[in-house]
Amino acid sequence: MKNLKAKDFKQKLIAITSQDPAQCYQCGKCSAGCPVRDFAEAPPNRVVRYVQLGLYDKAMTSPTIWLCAGCQTCTSRCPQEFDLAKFMDAVRELAIAYGVKSADKKTQEFHEAFLKQIENFGRAYELGMLIDYKLKSKDFFQDVDLAPSTFSKGKLSLLPHNVKGKQQIKKIFKESGEVKK
Ligand code: SF4
Ligand code: SF4
Repeated sequence: MKNLKAKDFKQKLIAITSQDPAQCYQCGKCSAGCPVRDFAEAPPNRVVRYVQLGLYDKAMTSPTIWLCAGCQTCTSRCPQEFDLAKFMDAVRELAIAYGVKSADKKTQEFHEAFLKQIENFGRAYELGMLIDYKLKSKDFFQDVDLAPSTFSKGKLSLLPHNVKGKQQIKKIFKESGEVKK
């Protein structure tokens, strides 16, 4: 881990989210409605449990935090009004700050490739994301058979879309990076 000490993890998590993970009483209602639950090695409420037990490395290396789509279903279902979507976001932020890699590196690499396109172009540029992900993961041939039909149906454009306010978006990324340090 770099920059931060493990003992600071919980205080930082509480500071970022303005809520204490102890609030969660592990009813599992969040995970029952989570759309990525079936693809995750651990249900979202278990990631909260890891933190409750002080297993911060387990929380930060869990592929579940990178699979989370931020859909807020969990947050809207929680009887304790625990904002689990915000919690997931904060655990991801802290994993980056601590330099902790996911147990499933590819999910994290895909997430990073997506964010890089938003930072550079202001919105998702699918072809750029694909190239960046392939270079990071070295998984050059996965789904390669889908490329011709994807191109022919116009699902991948060769050039990024033009959006307004790219400089402001870059500034948001820069400032949020400085906050994390
Ligand atoms: S629904 Fe709320 S209280 Fe229940 S397990 Fe999920 S986060 Fe915890
Ligand atoms: S915000 Fe994340 S953890 Fe919560 S239901 Fe959506 S995908 Fe699952």
